[in-house]
Amino acid sequence: MECTCLSRKEVKPFVSQKKERMDYYDNKEQQREGVGRRKGDGWMNWESWEFSSWRDAILSCLTPSAYGKRWKAEGRLDEEELRSCRPRLKQFWLETVEHLLDLQAMSSIHLCSAVAQPAVVVMSVKMEELEVFCKQLPKIELHAHLSGSITRECLHEIYKKRKEAEPSIGLEDPMIVIPPGKVDYDLETFFPLFSKYIYQLCNDVQSVRYSTKRVLQDFEADGVAYLELRTTPREFKETGMSKEQYVETVLESIEQYEKDASTSMKTLLLLSVDRRDSFQKALGCIDLAIRYKHRGVVGVDLCGDPLRLQKGDVTIFREVFAKARENGLGVTLHFAEAAKTSSDEELLVLLSFKPGRIGHVIHVSDAIRTEISKRKLALELCISCNVHAKMITGSFQDHHFRDWWVEKQCPLILCTDDVGVFCSTISNEYVIVAQHFGLTRLQLWELSFQTIDPIFGGEEEKMRLRNLMVSWREGNKL
Ligand SMILES: [Zn+2]
Repeated sequence: MECTCLSRKEVKPFVSQKKERMDYYDNKEQQREGVGRRKGDGWMNWESWEFSSWRDAILSCLTPSAYGKRWKAEGRLDEEELRSCRPRLKQFWLETVEHLLDLQAMSSIHLCSAVAQPAVVVMSVKMEELEVFCKQLPKIELHAHLSGSITRECLHEIYKKRKEAEPSIGLEDPMIVIPPGKVDYDLETFFPLFSKYIYQLCNDVQSVRYSTKRVLQDFEADGVAYLELRTTPREFKETGMSKEQYVETVLESIEQYEKDASTSMKTLLLLSVDRRDSFQKALGCIDLAIRYKHRGVVGVDLCGDPLRLQKGDVTIFREVFAKARENGLGVTLHFAEAAKTSSDEELLVLLSFKPGRIGHVIHVSDAIRTEISKRKLALELCISCNVHAKMITGSFQDHHFRDWWVEKQCPLILCTDDVGVFCSTISNEYVIVAQHFGLTRLQLWELSFQTIDPIFGGEEEKMRLRNLMVSWREGNKL
C-alpha cells in the first residue's frame, strides 16, 4: 500500500465543519447519513484493509457509528442488525484505529486530530491490555543479580530494622541514597552503589534471608515461572559471615520459599566470579558452586565492573570455567558490556570458555557477531538496564534486540539484570519489545517459549515449562 503523509491542509476537511465535509458527498442526504461515497475516485476494501488513499483510511475511522451507517447503506445490515451489532462495530473501529496507529508508529502517516484523539484512548486501553498480557504470560528470568533485584522498599525495611537494633549504624536511609524513580545509574555510579552501600546494608544472615525472600516474591508476582538468580559469594568481616555461609543462607531462603505450597516458581542459583578476582579467588567460587550443586546451584557466571579489569586479561579464568563445565555446571558470561573491555582478542578468549549463554552483547565487531551466530549462542538481553545505564547509544528503539530479532540466528532471552536499580520488571521488558519492535502477542509468547532451551535447570524442568507454556497458549487462544 502506498503511504503518504497527510498535510494539515489535507486533513482539515475530515475534522472540520459540515460545510467543508460537504465536498465529500454527492448530496446533502448522503452527508446527513454520513454514508455517501465522496466525490472522486476513492475506494476502500474493509476486508483487506486496502484503501485508495490515506484520506479514505482516516475518513473511515472517524466514529464507530459511521461504520454502522456505511454498512447499512451498502446493504450489509438492516436497522435491527445494526442495533445488535454495535459491539462488533466498536471492535471493528478499534481495530481500524489500532491498525492506523501501527502505521503511524512506522512513520508512514500522521494521524489527523479526529483520529488521534480517540486513538489516544484506544492506545491507553491497548497498553493496559498489553501490560496485563505480559504479566500473565509465564516467563523465564535467567539474568537477575540477587542484590540488584532488591527493591528500594525492601532495602528501606531492612534499614529500619537495623537502625532500631543499632541506632549508631553509619548508613543513610536507602530512600535518600537511591531516591525513588532514579534509574540513571551508569557504569561509573552503578558498581559503587553496591560496594559502598547495598552490600554493607545486607551483610548478615537476617537481611540476606529477608531480601532473598522478597526478591523471590517479586519475581513470582510478576509471572515468572522459572528463575535463575545469580550472586557473587561474599564474606562480611563485620558480621563474621563467610562466603560459604552466604551461599547457604541464600539457598536456605530459596528452599524455604519453595516449601510454601502456594508457590509454583522454580528457582535455581548461579554463582558469579568477579572479573577483578584472582585465579585463586575465582577457583574458590567454582569450588563452592560444585559443592552446592545438590542444593540447587546449576551454573556459574563472570560478572563485575567491566571498566575496572586489571590489565584487561581474562585468560586466567579459562581453567576455572573449564572446571565448572567438567563438573556439569552451566556457564554464562557478561559479554561485551563496555567498549573498553570488548576487543576481539578479549571476546575470543571469553568464547573459548564455551559458554552456554552470554549476557548484554553490546560492543561486538562483525567478526564476533558472526561467530556468535554460528554458535547460535543464547543471548541474555537487558534492554532497560542498557538504556538507563547508557551502555548503548540511543534509546529503547535503538537496542540491538532488533538486529538479533531480525536475524533469528540466536535464541533471545529478555532479562532484568537489576530490577531493584532500573525498576523495569521482566513483564515490562516484554511490553517494551511489543511497543518498540512491534512483536505480536504470539511472538511474545514465542519469545518466552524459546528461553526454555537455554536454561541450566535440566530436562525435567524444561519439560515442565514446555507443558506450562503450551497449555497457557491454548488457554489464551493464541
Ligand atoms: Zn548482569
